[in-house]
Amino acid sequence: MSVDTDDGFGPFCGALGCTDDAEYVIDHPKHGELTVCSGCVGDYEVIRLV
Ligand SMILES: [Zn+2]
Repeated sequence: MSVDTDDGFGPFCGALGCTDDAEYVIDHPKHGELTVCSGCVGDYEVIRLV
């Protein structure tokens, strides 16, 4: 059992099959605001950082 001292429970990447920590909120054409990790941002517009 490992406990991160960050924020306790942080948001996770919303991309399918990805369990990385979310770092960005993007404006997804289908899903609207979506929190994703840095590897899943792709070409989407970044609204803000998580
Ligand atoms: Zn991801």
